[in-house]
Amino acid sequence: MTPLSMHEELPFDEATTPPHVSTGDLPVAADVRALVTEAYERYRHHGSGDVADYIPALAQADPDLFGIAVVGPWGRSFEIGDVTAGFSIQSVSKPFVFALVCDTLGYEAARVRLGVNSTGFPFDSLMAIELNAQRTMNPLVNAGALATTSLVPGATAGEKWEAIRQRLSAFAGRELLVDDEVYASESATNLRNQGIAHLLRSYDRLFFDPDETTDLYTRQCSLEVTVHDLAVMAATLANGGVNPVTQETVIGPGVCRRVLAVMASAGLYELSGDWLYQIGVPGKSGVSGGIITVAPGKGGLATYSPPLDEAGNSVRGQLATKYLSERLGLNLFASAPSDGPPVQF
Ligand code: GLN
Repeated sequence: MTPLSMHEELPFDEATTPPHVSTGDLPVAADVRALVTEAYERYRHHGSGDVADYIPALAQADPDLFGIAVVGPWGRSFEIGDVTAGFSIQSVSKPFVFALVCDTLGYEAARVRLGVNSTGFPFDSLMAIELNAQRTMNPLVNAGALATTSLVPGATAGEKWEAIRQRLSAFAGRELLVDDEVYASESATNLRNQGIAHLLRSYDRLFFDPDETTDLYTRQCSLEVTVHDLAVMAATLANGGVNPVTQETVIGPGVCRRVLAVMASAGLYELSGDWLYQIGVPGKSGVSGGIITVAPGKGGLATYSPPLDEAGNSVRGQLATKYLSERLGLNLFASAPSDGPPVQF
């Protein structure tokens, strides 16, 4: 008899939100405002970390830029600092393209093809491909992200690009456009990603032409966003897949929770365990300095600050997110002892 597997498909209606979920609410607006302001003031002069320079256009970013945005489940937002500064989305695009692929293939088929476990290696590791029989380990490091992009629906690169651009724009609630300078700069220097794509192809783990896939992936990473856009995208993942500003259903609730599961285990690359230990919510970072944090049911938080730690995660962003996770009550693992007799159970 085949043993029961945790991947056994249970009946799950993508169209209906489950009646019971495990989450509460953010504090009242005045408290959110005060705490976000405090986090900004506390870390705006923090000086450690280095701006990414392996993509030449990113090296020009002003290291002093710092912005924080929070968007709640009703679309209310609060933001502070450099909130109108545009930057390329980079790896923060990965969970959203994964969501699009899950929506097309089904999240179980996507798991089988891409994997959902962390690698313990840097985001652009070749070792992680060589050491694992499945080759891609998850959709949030470059190997799995390239494979994910190769699975985007569409027969041609043009069709795939439109699917990516449109879906990421729906997550953000506005039309996102490519930063041409970053795209040109990364296209001229992305030999490592080209190598990863060809290596995956050699293992039959890339599902579209390797050069066209790398080009699509590079374009996807070059989409320009603000910290407000990232907070709306995060809030959509916190809101069962419905954009809280436009009210558009961007993905179903079943896909939404799986995307968050992968972000929790792999969103900050080899430091994902430290992130979950300290912050306790799914997050995703990118080398241009953005980080999104999703508090399911409560809202999305985004930070932007270009100086990075050695794993490629924004330093001020991690500090501010840790501060806010504790004070806004975002940590999914936090509970308070009961202070009275049970009411319902
Ligand atoms: N486009 C970047 C790359 O592939 C994204 C990496 C990142 O943000 N960690 O190198």
